[in-house]
Parts: sequence; structure tokens; C-alpha cells
Amino acid sequence: MSQVKERFLRYVQIETTSDETSETCPSTPGQWNLAKLLVQEMQAMGIADARVDEHCYVYGTIPAKGDHPERIGLIAHMDTSDGVTGPTHPQVIPCYDGGPITLKNGVVIDGFPFLPALAGQELIVTDGTSVLGADDTAGVAEIMELASLLTRADAPEHCTVCIGLTPDAEIGRGAALFGVARFGADFAYTVDGGALGELEYENFNAASCVVTIHGVNIHPGEAKNQMKNAALVAMHWNSLLPPAEIPAHTAGYEGFYHLCQMEGDEELARLQYIIRDHDAARFQQRLDTVQAITAFINARYGEGTAVCELKESYRNMRELIEQRMDIVDRARAAFGACGVEPRIQPIRGGTDGARLTYMGLPCPNLSTGGYNFHGRKELIPVPAMEKMVEVLARLVSAQA
Ligand SMILES: [Zn+2]
Repeated sequence: MSQVKERFLRYVQIETTSDETSETCPSTPGQWNLAKLLVQEMQAMGIADARVDEHCYVYGTIPAKGDHPERIGLIAHMDTSDGVTGPTHPQVIPCYDGGPITLKNGVVIDGFPFLPALAGQELIVTDGTSVLGADDTAGVAEIMELASLLTRADAPEHCTVCIGLTPDAEIGRGAALFGVARFGADFAYTVDGGALGELEYENFNAASCVVTIHGVNIHPGEAKNQMKNAALVAMHWNSLLPPAEIPAHTAGYEGFYHLCQMEGDEELARLQYIIRDHDAARFQQRLDTVQAITAFINARYGEGTAVCELKESYRNMRELIEQRMDIVDRARAAFGACGVEPRIQPIRGGTDGARLTYMGLPCPNLSTGGYNFHGRKELIPVPAMEKMVEVLARLVSAQA
């Protein structure tokens, strides 16, 4: 009987959706319920320093068994995406037949290229009314199951394992109040990726860009040579960006400018973008490009017409991880030893691990085994969760 499945089903039914409109940490009170349960369970396993801090970060340390000096961190987040809100109702499909999966409300899981290969496996899906929450309750369950294995009397020799379970990762705040020094790991892994075998240590460099256009309004009947229509100037500003460099036309290592919000009238217009690129030099060129467009618009329409505010959001962890490729190799070897082909791919987004890496804790990302995160069609195969427990055990083992 798989204990990780039982843990997952138990944890996932505790409502932990985070809320980006909230100013508090944790952003929602439900996250305390899971945090307190996890601390109780860790204490019951004999993890003496298991604790939750005042911001709902859960920590605990499993001392090394044998003479193994490395201190390895494992991190997952307790909150779930608000993509589809409401409590989670997990459904177990004992032996998936490889065909379409019909859920409530006419939601059908079908047409995904990974589905046929899951035939014959036990799957966990939602009832079609919410996300499943495998992102990242699966990571939490896998780390907790590993903890229960390592704290048994018959556990094999292993390194020190530092466990960190964070709130509010889905709203970009999972690393914000993480106590790196007290956590005490030399390096760590987030267990927050998708399909079994994913191993990631490259993410976007990221910035936000707000362009404000100041116009001059006047009655349209008397506007000749007087009006400066901010909405039209904003459209001009946007038209100067390379048209193919948007999310809908890019993949892999291709960066983009993404217009995510616009509003405006004759007097005032505002464009909001996010800017992304894996490559630091190309990222800088993108920032230079929006400044150059702003300068052009001001030369054309008058100084002060356009104001561009750039704010860096996060950086690609690759620059720092490249100095610690041994930890990527360690993960690659752990997957390999468990018969899983590791798939190294660039993340088209950011991770808490990227922020932690820049806070001094190198932190690549590992798979959880799940698919279709943040939507009603989210699912996870039970064998993938079991395999991840095995991979994590290998990762912190003496042989790794
Ligand atoms: Zn996640």
C-alpha cells in the first residue's frame, strides 16, 4: 500500500488556495491548517526541531545517519493555485484505460500527448470543479513520505535532510520570508515540477514594465493641431515592439514582451508588460529596447509624453548554479539510479528556487510527477509519486 498516495489524498483536501490580493503572510488562513498538521506529523516521526514560524513557513531537520557531512534541503509549497477556486475533490482511477476521462460539468481530459503512456496506471484527478492541487501538494506528500522513511529505525544511511514547506509560492512570495540561514542546508531542491524526470536549473530573467502616456485632450471639433490622444500614442508605442516576440509565438529559449494589461483615453493611457529572456545579455537588450522606444515616442510627440518604469522581478538561477553543477549532476544520477530518464529543460517562468539561489541557497527544481497544473484537468499518477519518493531517497542517500 502506497503511503504517499494516502498522504496526498489527505493533504489535498485541506483548502490552501493562496490569494494575491491579500497583504498578509500567509495570504490565506487555510494554509495554517496544513502547516500545523505537517508539523504534528513531523514531530510524531521524531523530528525534534519541526516547527512553523510566525509566517507559516514549516521547517524540520532529519540528522544524518552515518558519517555524511552534506546538508541537503528539500522544499515544496503548501499553497495551491487560485486558477479554479473551490475545495478539491480528488477522484482515484484505479487502472486508467488510456482513453478520455470524463469529469463533472462536461470537463473531459483528452487529447494530451502524455495520456496513452499512462494507461494501466492508478491516476488521481479532480471531479472537474477545481484544481487538484498536485502543484504542489504532491511535492509536500513526497517529501513527508521520505521523512517518514528516513526516521524509521531501519532507515539506510543518509545525509542531513533539511525540510522547508512554504506558503504563498503561487503568488510569487514563497521565498520572500524563507529563513535560509536557519534552514541550514548547503544546497536544496524544490520539488515543484511536472512530469516525472523533469530537472530544471534555468529560468527566465524577468522584469515588469509600465508605460504611462500623457496626452492632451480637447473637444474633437476643435482638436486640429491641438489634441495628443494618449490612447493612440500608446498603440504607436506598442507597434514599435517586434511583433513575433510575444508568448504566443515563442518557446524554449525564446524570450518575449508580453502586454498583460492596457487602459486609456485621450488624456492618459497605460500599458503593462512583462519582459522575459533566459539569456542575460538578450534580457538587457530588451530593457534597452523599451527605453529606446520611449525615447523615440518622446522625440516624436514631445518630451514627457511617455514614461517607462522598469522593475526587475527575478533572475535566471543558471548563472549561479553553473558554479555548482555537482548538485545538478547529483539529481541527474538519482533519477538515473531509479530508472528515470532525467529531462533537463529551461523553465519559462520563475521558481522559488531561483530566488533562493540568489539568497545564497542553490536550488534546482525537480518533478513531482503531475500534469496540467493550475486547471481542472490537473492529474497525477500514483506510480510517479512513489517513484519520486524513491528518487528523493536516492538523492539524500550515502551512495548519491
Ligand atoms: Zn508550484
